[in-house]
Amino acid sequence: MIGNKPGPKRVLIAGGAGFIGSHLTDRLLAAGAEVTVLDNLQTGRRENLAHLDGARELRFIKADITDELPRKVTGDRFDQIYNLACAASPPRYQADPEHTLLTNVLGTRNLLRLAEAHGARFLLTSTSEVYGDPEVHPQREDYRGSVSCTGPRACYDEGKRAAETLTFDFVRLGRVDARVVRIFNTYGPRMDPDDGRVVSNVICQALSGQPITIYGDGSQTRSFCYVDDLIDGILRLMALECDQPGPVNVGNAAELTVRDLVERVVALTGTSSPVTYQPLPQDDPRRRRPDIGLAQRLLGWEPRVDLQQGLEATTTYFAEELRRRPPDAGEPALAAAE
Ligand code: UDP
Repeated sequence: MIGNKPGPKRVLIAGGAGFIGSHLTDRLLAAGAEVTVLDNLQTGRRENLAHLDGARELRFIKADITDELPRKVTGDRFDQIYNLACAASPPRYQADPEHTLLTNVLGTRNLLRLAEAHGARFLLTSTSEVYGDPEVHPQREDYRGSVSCTGPRACYDEGKRAAETLTFDFVRLGRVDARVVRIFNTYGPRMDPDDGRVVSNVICQALSGQPITIYGDGSQTRSFCYVDDLIDGILRLMALECDQPGPVNVGNAAELTVRDLVERVVALTGTSSPVTYQPLPQDDPRRRRPDIGLAQRLLGWEPRVDLQQGLEATTTYFAEELRRRPPDAGEPALAAAE
């Protein structure tokens, strides 16, 4: 799954200590790769990789991709470079918008230059946020999006759009062989309970008996993809030998409202937590669902884990997380910035 050249693949994962990055690290190590994780630990967590302590094929470097890359990285040799380095939850990426924008623009530039110098294949994790608050539904890759360049989400949305622009310019100029995956809402074990996302908030609130927060009236929709399915799509895209495929959506096409999600979690956990309604954050997309036709055709990929299975696994994980935390730290710390 990670290429045809003999010998172990040497892989750099920027953001490899994050929720998604740590699952990618697991899968690449299991496939026999030598993995270097580069992470500034802004939202990534060492504990996401703790189960790999002592793994000889894994190296961790704490660094920020907006800075000059460390010698340990530039002096190495990589066959593949994955860029997953960016805070992705709205409250987290809005906490330092300047850094979020620069992570996507400057950080991606630094990694693209590294990929060019090493002749490495590069994969950018972009986002469904490039479609903004979409007027076209479901979202296909050729839809250009409806994004505010001045709103509170712009540091992330526009940052990712610029990161795509840079990546495709490097491709057009023949400087790098690159892939771009547009990730839709993803959930699963190792989400940060304090991330402020709807899945983590709602499950943690349900498990700890706190009020469940619905922003707006809960009629906005999302389509949630289990993390294992996402990783499978990412690996397939990186391994794909073909002409430049352009950006590829990877997500689960099963769409539901936030209210439906809350009902599913309430039924699953048997919680008696009340539901409270809070203001909808500015520029919160009304609906989102990927058209995954391209991923199906190009990668032979389809999500396999349905929402019920995925929520069960995620709830088990959060129940353990909450048990490990001090009693007063069980409530999600971050609310959406308005
Ligand atoms: N949301 C919610 N309650 C929460 C957190 C989020 O109702 O405690 C809403 C949020 O306003 C959005 C949806 O759930 O409409 C998904 O939010 P999330 O932050 O998970 O992802 P994104 O907005 O980036 O898709």
